[in-house]
Formats: sequence, structure tokens, C-alpha cells
Amino acid sequence: MLADPCPQCGGIQVRYRGKVYCTSHDDLSSITTLAAVSYDSVVAQMREVLLTRLNETTAALGTEKDPTKQDQLVSLAAKYFDLLQKLPQK
Ligand SMILES: [Zn+2]
Repeated sequence: MLADPCPQCGGIQVRYRGKVYCTSHDDLSSITTLAAVSYDSVVAQMREVLLTRLNETTAALGTEKDPTKQDQLVSLAAKYFDLLQKLPQK
């Protein structure tokens, strides 16, 4: 909640994700829409990054001769894979 009232109607203002909304005249349902879009875009980006890393790790594992490094790569790939499966499916 902000100290200053709305300059347009004198209503109570709230700040959410860097934007100021008036609780009296702004449509607050747009806030939940914004949050949903943001969550979806983060999940999409995360999936993309994880797939890229998983691909790189798998490629590195294919050429790695050192068993200790193979172990690290397998454990890394397992984490990426695990995280990918935890992402909401579309
Ligand atoms: Zn207002």
C-alpha cells in the first residue's frame, strides 16, 4: 500500500511488480493475468535453458573418458532431467 492516494479518484493505491494500481478504479484482475503470463514465460524459458544444458551435458558425456568427470556429468544430467519433468506440462 502506498502513502499517496490516487491522483484521479483519491482511492488507495498499491504497488505490484513495479506498477502502481488504484484499488478503486483500476481493474485488479489484470494483475493476476500479468502474474500468470510471467509465470508461463519463466517456465518456457527454464525449459529451453534446461534442454540446451541437457543436450550439452549429454554431448560432453559421449566424449568424456575420465570416470570421475563422467560421474559429475551424469549427476548433472539427472538434475536437469529431474527439473524438466517437474515443470508443468503444456
Ligand atoms: Zn483511482
